[in-house]
Amino acid sequence: MATVQTAFRRAREHSVQHMAACERAFLRWGETAVTEIVISRAATAVNVVPFTQPAEATSGADWIWWWVDTDSAYGMLVQAKRLTVHGSNWRFDFGYCTTAGGQQSILRATAASLNLVPVYAVYLGTGGYRNWEPCPDDHRVRRCTSCVKRSISLMPALLADPAIVNDSATTYERSVALEEMWMPSPTSQLFIPGLSRQLDPELLNFLLTPQRGVRAVAKSTIDRILRVRAGQFSADSPSAPSTMHGGNHDRLGPVFPDLPSETGHWGVPYFQHVLKPLRHVPPDYVLEIESREFDVGEVSSNMPDDVAGVVVVRLPQNG
Ligand SMILES: [Zn+2]
Repeated sequence: MATVQTAFRRAREHSVQHMAACERAFLRWGETAVTEIVISRAATAVNVVPFTQPAEATSGADWIWWWVDTDSAYGMLVQAKRLTVHGSNWRFDFGYCTTAGGQQSILRATAASLNLVPVYAVYLGTGGYRNWEPCPDDHRVRRCTSCVKRSISLMPALLADPAIVNDSATTYERSVALEEMWMPSPTSQLFIPGLSRQLDPELLNFLLTPQRGVRAVAKSTIDRILRVRAGQFSADSPSAPSTMHGGNHDRLGPVFPDLPSETGHWGVPYFQHVLKPLRHVPPDYVLEIESREFDVGEVSSNMPDDVAGVVVVRLPQNG
């Protein structure tokens, strides 16, 4: 069995080969084909459970991804979106989140009903397709490793505003390469003035300390949001500190039950939105999938129609 890291690298390499072959043949590669490549290559190292009748008829169904290790679990609802480049203009067909019944609202509502964070898998194509626009990482050479890994990235849906995400800088700022999701970030800062006073000490420690495994995945996600939120502060002042009491501390439930209710420009309590799905233990259907004691029909019958299946990624504790 391949390691998760090797499997995800292959998923990206084979996706890029497919994208490059399409480019050479003047074909437009699609989200469905790339998702098939990513999930089938990932399946060499992680548990993949496709539901028998995925609702592919719409614009490509969403997949549930659970990241699991010995002390945490973090669940995402993932929808694929390809990049379209016109000169320096980058575009994704996210759909508007404000329209009730719009594609993005449905993704968010479905994710909320399943206690998952809504995320886009953004397929950025080959480096050549992106004109090798430099990434903000340690970018020194044209074909830099970070740029190459960016072909398959994840972006929190909260940051997928089509009016803002329209070039390489905003896309790179708001997303993380799939292969880098659980890598501990070397430095950490809060970015937002005054925020530390609003936070529970355990949460503060989580945000300021490099994390490993599943907690690193959750931290990569909240870090992107805090970075963007920090940018919004130039335009307004922080709302009154208050804390959402999500429930009692327990060994099975959310890792951080007390989360700030700050909403930023999104009108969404973003700490809750991103960190509520970080739990000590995954839900039963994930445990059943891992122990191979499940019935696909039963698992899928409890899911909304637009869910194509479940991916369970067990990470080594030391990431
Ligand atoms: Zn780069």
